[in-house]
Amino acid sequence: MRISMISEHASPLAALGGVDAGGQNVHVAALSAALAARGHRVTVYTRRDSPDLPARVAAGERFEVVHVDAGPPTQVPKDSLLPYMAQLARGVAADWGQEPPDLVHGHFWMSGLASLEAARAGTGSGYPVPVVQTFHALGSVKRRHQGAQDTSPAERSWLEPAVGRTADRIIATCSDEVFELKALGVPGTKISVAPCGVNLELFTPEGPAERRTRRHRIATVGRLVPRKGVDLAIRALRELKDGGLDDVELLVVGGSSGPDGLAVDPEARRLTALAAELGVADQVVLRGQVPQAQMPALLRGVDAVVCAPWYEPFGIVPLEAMACGVPVVAAAVGGLIDTVVHGKTGLHVPPQDPAALAGALAELLARPELARQLGRAGRRRVCARYSWERVAAETEKAYQLARAAVDAALDPVEGQAL
Ligand code: UDP
Repeated sequence: MRISMISEHASPLAALGGVDAGGQNVHVAALSAALAARGHRVTVYTRRDSPDLPARVAAGERFEVVHVDAGPPTQVPKDSLLPYMAQLARGVAADWGQEPPDLVHGHFWMSGLASLEAARAGTGSGYPVPVVQTFHALGSVKRRHQGAQDTSPAERSWLEPAVGRTADRIIATCSDEVFELKALGVPGTKISVAPCGVNLELFTPEGPAERRTRRHRIATVGRLVPRKGVDLAIRALRELKDGGLDDVELLVVGGSSGPDGLAVDPEARRLTALAAELGVADQVVLRGQVPQAQMPALLRGVDAVVCAPWYEPFGIVPLEAMACGVPVVAAAVGGLIDTVVHGKTGLHVPPQDPAALAGALAELLARPELARQLGRAGRRRVCARYSWERVAAETEKAYQLARAAVDAALDPVEGQAL
């Protein structure tokens, strides 16, 4: 197939760990590469956010990235990008010319709008372009948890469900998302489930590990935004200390890069102040952004990875930890309910509960053989279920269903829409 992906804010070529660059970037990059490896031709369209970017970049065999002019060629927060989606759609349709792809796959709700618009404008061959949509995150969930702090445009509350109802097929990344999509009015028959994956060659249990002191070491990894719950991990350090366990170091990975960047990063400053207030400042190390290539060595050097988000649409970090044979202590929310198996590959705790987090960490740190056992099982689980090859195969099935849905809506004699 000739596949177009639209990922308006999350370029597969971006550095990871900033406020708007995380799992979606990884997902689009790795899924595209895995689909290309299966023989498809994949073009990812993303917004030009710097004047220096070339128009087209070959990202691999049969896989290219196209930077489309849509709004100013500068960094713009993703929640301010809605006004530029029509321009993005026009740019994509213009690039297709008279040869539209076999399918367009939108990532995030705004790219869904651009995909539907490009598909409508770009039916050069007369055959409708099927639209597949992955939301990555849902505004309804975000609003429930973030309330007034949610900076999404108001239009998201009606445009996102409309994308869900209009696209030919929706790919949910976990079972929790299926319930949320149904609650938005998306028919269950239109939803496929294909999770995110993990690079099993890069993230391995064997290989170099970061050197460490004799202290226990735990880590949080991700974009440094409040909903990732890093503050809960810091509060858990205080709980551990109160329980007599103070030789624990917490690495906080993500956020701005370099010490200068961290000094002005609002979330980094909030976390630093909290650690000082709780008397655990000497146990918290803010590492800032770490390139993905260095992540496996970092993960191999920790006793456990803590994922304590308020909510989590999927969460690739637990897969990366499990792939490195590291146990995960995870809030039982969203995708983490599917990926982490309590007592088998890690421990689940209730969300927003630092005492429960501390309890789970204390258990793992006191029982290294249990931690090793969970880590080994984690590796087995990701190898069995979460390779990008497998995710690409699941995605391909969803693409076939989308094409079948479009075919079924065509007049069998004339080949025209009924
Ligand atoms: N990441 C990274 N460097 C950082 C912080 C994060 O490479 O400094 C990567 C991390 O390894 C993972 C991704 O960014 O691959 C985060 O994905 P996840 O799904 O966990 O969170 P999201 O960003 O989608 O909320």
